[in-house]
This record gives sequence, structure tokens and C-alpha cells, in this order.
Amino acid sequence: MTQPPSTTNTQNPLLTEWSGPFGLPPLPAIAPEHFRPAFERALAAHRAEIDAIAANAGSPSFDNTIVALEKSGRALDRVSNVFFVLAGAHTGDAIEAIEREVSPLLARHSNALYLNAKLYARIAELYRRRDKLGLNAEHARVLDRYHTRFVRAGAALDKPAQDRLAAINERLASLGTQFGQNVLADEKAYALVLEEGDLTGLPDFARAAARAAAEERGHPGKYAITLARSSCESFLQFSARRDLREKVFQAWIKRGENGGATDNRALIAEMVTLRGERAKLLGFATYADYRLDDQMAKTPQAARNLLDEVWGRARAKAAVERDALQKLIAEEGGNFALAPWDWRYYTEKLRKAKFDLDEAEIKPYFQLDKMIDAAFETAHRLFGLTFTPVAVPLYHPDARAFEVKDAQGRHVGLFIGDYFARASKHSGAWMTSLRDQEKLSGDVRPVILNICNFSKPAAGEPALLSFDDARTLFHEFGHALHGLLSNVTYPLLAGTSVSSDFVELPSQLYEHWLEVPEILQKYARHARTGEPMPKALLDRLLATRTFNQGFATVEYTACALVDLDIHALPAAADLDVSKFERDDLDALHMPAEIVMRHRLPHFQHLFSGDGYAAGYYSYMWSEVLDADAFEAFAKTGNAFDPATAQRLRDWIYSAGNLRDPAEAYKAFRGRLPTIDALLKKRGLTIRQQRRSPHNLAARRPLYCHGQ
Ligand SMILES: [Zn+2]
Repeated sequence: MTQPPSTTNTQNPLLTEWSGPFGLPPLPAIAPEHFRPAFERALAAHRAEIDAIAANAGSPSFDNTIVALEKSGRALDRVSNVFFVLAGAHTGDAIEAIEREVSPLLARHSNALYLNAKLYARIAELYRRRDKLGLNAEHARVLDRYHTRFVRAGAALDKPAQDRLAAINERLASLGTQFGQNVLADEKAYALVLEEGDLTGLPDFARAAARAAAEERGHPGKYAITLARSSCESFLQFSARRDLREKVFQAWIKRGENGGATDNRALIAEMVTLRGERAKLLGFATYADYRLDDQMAKTPQAARNLLDEVWGRARAKAAVERDALQKLIAEEGGNFALAPWDWRYYTEKLRKAKFDLDEAEIKPYFQLDKMIDAAFETAHRLFGLTFTPVAVPLYHPDARAFEVKDAQGRHVGLFIGDYFARASKHSGAWMTSLRDQEKLSGDVRPVILNICNFSKPAAGEPALLSFDDARTLFHEFGHALHGLLSNVTYPLLAGTSVSSDFVELPSQLYEHWLEVPEILQKYARHARTGEPMPKALLDRLLATRTFNQGFATVEYTACALVDLDIHALPAAADLDVSKFERDDLDALHMPAEIVMRHRLPHFQHLFSGDGYAAGYYSYMWSEVLDADAFEAFAKTGNAFDPATAQRLRDWIYSAGNLRDPAEAYKAFRGRLPTIDALLKKRGLTIRQQRRSPHNLAARRPLYCHGQ
């Protein structure tokens, strides 16, 4: 960050007002070298704003403290928003180098904000007097959220405790980075190099991928199976060589547990210990208590209650599935007990035999453009929105923009869809924004993006999706609507800024409309003939939804339970991680033929940073909500029931973080969610109930976000 500001001031497009169409930033004019000086100036500007608020000689008021904080840091928001859109969707060496440099700066900046004693004193005083300030509900919520954030970051502690907390955070950050790099190192170090004759059972796409992997690793003309999930899982699914499946599987589940420099077990023990200490400094008995306190679940017990409800049923269903697989082995003349490296292989065989479903037969019915239209029509029928393509300058020619209007023809915001995979894009699918909705600085309208990684077709060919891809498109579009429909005053509360066990509700719920027959019949049309999908094929497709769900639920739920258990340990300095995991799973009666989806030594959700530490349950928590929420429509017999849609909009999609999530859900549904719809969806009820026409709830486990 050495460029003198005077030379960049006039030329740096990041430092100008956003005056493009729809208030867009001048994206095509932005180059990587603009970011360093822009970040530098924006960070300095925000620091000056914060210092001024903290040093205000007047006694603290809602306006001179909370409103002032909400209005501060706008330049930093603008620079960061553009930067992180590009860092995810269109990156390269230059952007990556800036990212490594800027991330710690941003972390330090946020620490300095939350541990600013003078600032916290003002917030704490306002919070004490909150009932006498004449605040409306939204004001009270903003103040409460600020207070909570500062307290949870340690602002209320004395100086020695704060110093210890800062040291813990720093140590945890570097341990987290090390953890992830160790997993990556173990993955990179392993490849099972095979000859043509070893590939029995592998379909063309898996052979092609193995060939490319071998080439990349210096074995041209051979085939390599790596420990990347896609490589490994498809080998386990299709390879007829039981000996090789076992080899790959053993290597896969030993990542981070191989001894030597990349072994993660000591790191886990230290992280769990430091997290426990952190929680105690902040007044909580365990890290799980600390983590859950600011979630919808509130307590580890509440999360556990849900997991316990599911666990026994999932094991029962998995036992039935195991017996069917064992029977298949016997029928083929096999004389061995089903092992973990056999499960996927025999499941795939059973799937083919039972449902006769071929991916190649499905794909032509799911055209990208038609599925975008389907997502738009769903939003129109639920919320009255319309989407019109507009030509605006963006950061890549594949990104497309749509102006969103409401039923009265008023501008709602801009939606940008960037759907195709490319080398400059990170893998996965996500929603993000260039600008969030708010009313504090006038009627600010959102600019929301969906980034996906669908295969780009050859020129002149239609882009085709798998059914899973189509579901991902609907999922991300549900997040997009959460941003677009947001109707709050304060930026802190806008759109998706809700707790992490609530944020997947709008997205997972939206997936249900993809399976509504009216939508499928209209939009799932053959790319060549234009014919709708034949009913028999559709039925077979939908029938697979509860297939193998015992296995999927067991491998997920075991992880969520072990996560809660390890983060409930009072002390862990001498923890033997392998033994802890083994003992915990024994106590849970884990089926012998199934291994945790992520074993502790490579469980990156928990230990590469703390994103899902004591929070892996969130996926299922949100699934309870989405299954139960869709039942509200199913009950009316109309998947687009206007009254239900209006409540959904008022209390969920437009409400951001205006209320406690449980309160918001109750206002929508008239009661708190029950687990029944989830059990039905995953086929975990004792006796299958008949599906009502719109209760097409069941689907694959919610792994779209890399669960
Ligand atoms: Zn999501």
C-alpha cells in the first residue's frame, strides 16, 4: 500500500461515486491496482469516523452513536463489496495477492472497532437506558444487535482479559489456517495411480477426470484417483474393484491423521482448549454454550434435541438400507460383510435397478434459461415481482443483469446472474451483493448477485443442468430474494444478515418450488423437441428423493453430534482426538458400515476457522424450518397461496434481522416449527404417508453449500 493517494485520487474509479445505470460501480474501468489505494483510503476514513463518534463530547444518544455508526464506513463497504465479488467470481494472481494482504488488515480493523473502549462505553450506556430512549422496535433491535456484538467480541471485559482474548483470537486464526493447509497437503500428497485395466465399472466422465488428474501429476497416459471429494466419491460409487475401493477409502478418511508434520490432532486439542478458554472469559460454561447463545437454537440442548430426534430414526432407516445392500452382495455371489467402502458402490447398483434413472436422460429437460425463467415465475406468483433483462456494464461478459420491479411497477433492485464455471471463479455457488437495501441514506435499492458454476455449453448449444444444478439455482435465487425484498431502515439488519441457523430458510424453502408440478410441466422441456418431461420419467426422478437417506442422514448427523460434544468439553489440553472420536461414536451406536461425513482430523467446517464450530447442526436446523414452512403452502392445496405468500414476504423474505428469528417464524407460521415435515421429507417416518400434490418436499440432503 505504497501508492501516494494524490496520484490515484482523480483516476481511481473505486473512489468515485457509483453513477452507472442503476447506481452501479464503473466495473469495466476497475483494475486490480486500484484496490490497494482504495482500501487504504477507505480504512483511514472509517477509522476517522469511528474516532469522531467515540470522542463526541456530547452525551451518547441513539443518533450520535448508533445512527452515526450505521452511516460510517460507506466507502469501505463500497470498495469491499466490489473487491469480494471479484475475488470470488473473477479472480487471478493480482486479486489473490491483494486478498492475502487485505484480509488481516480487515480483521485488525474489526478488532479495533469492537474493542474500542470509549465507543463501547457509549453503546453500553444507551443499552442501559434503552427503555427510556423512546425507541421504536427497529431502533431497539439495532441497539440490541450492536450491544450483543460488542459484548460477544469482549468489549465489556477488563484490559487483561481483552489482551488474552486478542492473543487467543490470533492464535486460533493461525491454527485454523494451518489446519486447512495440512488437509490440503495430505490431499495433494496422495494419488492412486491406475492402469486402464483397473478401471472396471467407471463411467466415461470418471475415466476422463482420472486421466486428467494423472496427467497433472506427471503420469501421462495413466489414471489417478485423488482425495478430492469428487474424484474419491465417484470412484467409490462406480469402481468394481473392491481392493482398490478399500485403499482409496482408507486414505480418504485418514486425512489429517497420518502422523508427521501434517497431523491435525494436536491442533484440534489446542483449538478446542482455546475456544473453551475464550468462552469462559466471556462468561459461558463451554464453547458450545457461547456459540449457540446468539443463534436461533439458543442452547446446545435445543440443537441436540433436534439431532436426537433424527438420530434413532436415521439409524433405523440405514439398517434397512444396509440389509438391502447385503442382500444384493449375496445375490451377486459375494461372501463378505458390507464394509464402508462398499456402501456407495452397491447403493449405485440398487439405484439403477430400482429407478432406472440415467443422468443423460434427465439433462435435456433442464435448460439453464428455462430454469431461470422458472425461478422468476415463481417469484412473480409468490411476490408479484417481474424481471426484465437490461444491458449494463458488468465485470464479465457471461454475467447478465435483470431489473426487478414490484407488482406496482416500482423499481425493487438489480439482479445479476453469473452462472457459468470459468478458471477465474471459485468453485461452489453463492449469493452476494454490490449494494444492500436500506433507508437510512435515502431509498437505497439492492444490487444482488447469484454466482454458480454450471458447465458452459459449446457455442450455439443450450446450457443444460442436472436436476441438482437446477436445485442449486433455485436455492441461490431464494437467497437473492432475501436480499432483494429486504425492507428495513438500518443496513445492519438488511436482507441476509440473520443468524446462521436461520439464513438457509429462504434459500432451502425456495428449492421446494422447483418440484411443484405446474412449474416443472411448464419449464422442464426437452431442449430439442420442446416437449415437457414425460410423467413416468418425472415420477421416477421424484421417487429417488428418499432413497439412501438413512445413510446420508447418519453420516451428517454423526458429525453434528460429535461437533457439539467436542465443543462441550470443559478442558481438552491432553485430548486424544482419535480416541475421543471413537468413544463418542461408540456411545452414539454409530453403524459400523458408515463413517462420519467428515472425521475430526479433516473436519474443516469446525477447524479451518470457526465458521461452523459447534454450528454444524445449522444445516438440519434450517431444514426443519424449510420443510415445515412449505407445509404451510401444502396445507392450503395451493403452492402459491396468496395469503401464505404475503405472510412469508412480510415476516421472512423482507424482514431481514428486524426480529428474533423464532418470533419471525412464529409470526409467519402461527407457531414454532415441528420436525414432522423434515422426517417425512427424508423418509424417516415409520410408515410412509401419501404425498399430497404439493407436498413434494423430499430431496437430497442439503449439501449444496458444501456440507
Ligand atoms: Zn445457501
